[in-house]
Amino acid sequence: MSDFKITELDDAVDFGHLPYWDVVIIGAGPAGLAASLTTAHRGLTTLVIEAKDKPGGQPQFLYADKRIVDIPGFPDGITGEELSARVYRQALNALVQFRFDEELIDIQDTDQIEKDDPLKRVVTARQTYLARKVIIACGLLHYPRQLPVLDQLNSKNVFYKMPKIGDYRGQHVTVVGAGDSALDAAVMALERHAHVDVLMRGATAAGKAETLARVIQSGGVVHNSTEISAAEFAGDALALRLTDGTTLHSDVVIVQIGFLSAKETFERLNVRLNDDSSIAVDPYFETSRRGVFAVGDVHGDIKLIAVAWAEGIQAAIYAFKEITSPYWLNEKRLRDQKIALIGDKISQAALRQTRQK
Ligand SMILES: Cc1cc2nc3c(=O)[nH]c(=O)nc-3n(C[C@H](O)[C@H](O)[C@H](O)COP(=O)(O)OP(=O)(O)OC[C@H]3O[C@@H](n4cnc5c(N)ncnc54)[C@H](O)[C@@H]3O)c2cc1C
Repeated sequence: MSDFKITELDDAVDFGHLPYWDVVIIGAGPAGLAASLTTAHRGLTTLVIEAKDKPGGQPQFLYADKRIVDIPGFPDGITGEELSARVYRQALNALVQFRFDEELIDIQDTDQIEKDDPLKRVVTARQTYLARKVIIACGLLHYPRQLPVLDQLNSKNVFYKMPKIGDYRGQHVTVVGAGDSALDAAVMALERHAHVDVLMRGATAAGKAETLARVIQSGGVVHNSTEISAAEFAGDALALRLTDGTTLHSDVVIVQIGFLSAKETFERLNVRLNDDSSIAVDPYFETSRRGVFAVGDVHGDIKLIAVAWAEGIQAAIYAFKEITSPYWLNEKRLRDQKIALIGDKISQAALRQTRQK
């Protein structure tokens, strides 16, 4: 049985008069959108702040055209773009409010208490917002790593995300990179009839063996231990000089060599980080700062849309429970208190035993 009732809200509600938001969510990727739906369905006023001009996160910005095949319920797959649009529409219907082109700068503590909750001040590059709970869902990947040797050309033929090209028939595509994103890009270009060369810096691929096998079976040429040493325009195409001494002519170059990490933002937020610089969370997805949760790629080992959704939903429900039950009855605090009490009793018993010896 569900623990809530979805109530039709009046969509003419003026959110401008709210003294504070119940929940502010940072990032409109899969994790943030799923969290926002969940809190709004439970009647919590919910604001999502997104640095880009559109919702969707990585599926929208990095692989809008890719057919995603591992989302339960979509046996024929669904593109990143369509999936993002569907979840966004669902959030809008639930009266989630969005602010685009706004980047989170800081989350500050305040002295203002609202029903047991010390309010947080969420500072963006444009405004500040007061919130009872904050959910960080801004992903781990910020900007794609660039290749200076190609950047100096300032060419329209160089892409750092999968380009929206429907048919590459007769075109030569060079993919730079050895991970899953690079291999996915190679498969997509091959499926769209391109001649594909994959340049890998190391001796082996870091991506899935089965995707590499698909690239090779579909006619892709893989160059191991090879990098671009120089590049220049050759008519409408690019001439790429490689470290093995050969030259590749390429109409399109897709570079997928990883991302710069979001470590700087995380450090600014003053939350405890794991050794790999991701955000540390407890089993309730709460960070080292009370009332600040973190979900999706920002902390997890498993970076998948369905996992980001699931975590967003769980954090939203824990935030809801904290908001709707008194502090001292709240499930998490009770559990923590119980563990502390039991721990206390065990250490006292151990002390007594030592004294008796
Ligand atoms: C090439 C590629 C292919 C993939 N294919 C699949 C697949 O087939 N199936 C699958 O399940 N998963 C796939 N993934 C992984 C999946 O996309 C991620 O696990 C998922 O997007 C994580 O969701 P998220 O909401 O945590 O983060 P993100 O999707 O990264 O969303 C975070 C959002 O926060 C915003 N943001 C960042 N910083 C700030 C800030 N300071 N202020 C405000 N907003 C901010 C970002 O602009 C972004 O919109 C793929 C990933 C890549 C790179």
